[in-house]
Amino acid sequence: MPFDDAPVKKSKPVATGKPAAGQCLCGKVCLEIDTPARWAWHDHSAASRRAHGAAYATHVGSWRKRFRITKGKTEITRFEDKATKTARSFCKRCGTPLFYERARSPHMVNIPRALFTGRTGRQPLYHIAIEELQEWAYTGAPLVPLKGFPGVVWQRSKKKKRLDREGMF
Ligand SMILES: [Zn+2]
Repeated sequence: MPFDDAPVKKSKPVATGKPAAGQCLCGKVCLEIDTPARWAWHDHSAASRRAHGAAYATHVGSWRKRFRITKGKTEITRFEDKATKTARSFCKRCGTPLFYERARSPHMVNIPRALFTGRTGRQPLYHIAIEELQEWAYTGAPLVPLKGFPGVVWQRSKKKKRLDREGMF
């Protein structure tokens, strides 16, 4: 079983901080990693975009031996993508992507950064497949409140202001 990890061996001291805990949307599955994570990055590839239903996925990479499912192992199911030799595990109750594994990196487990509420010890400074960044992805442009819609902000278009606003809803 790939997820029944042995605890970190005492003979090989690793500077581990407090574990970072994460969970799926419904809370049936909980997991944790020892911190700091190995690295963190934004994945703009089409596969991750679809699997996450988002513009891109931000992942935290952990050594497998420093990754644990702490609750809900039986709630996890997985999709094996034969073409890319990857396996994506998700909660079978709420659908939250939980972690993904690549055949070429058998010692690593990649977990969506968004599952963790606290710090993971790594900033996502890296990008994979940045050339696939979608033109509709939000990249931090200035936003202003949308008049008449409390809680909605928008990126004001300089050219066709009225058209954009009317076409929004
Ligand atoms: Zn769930």
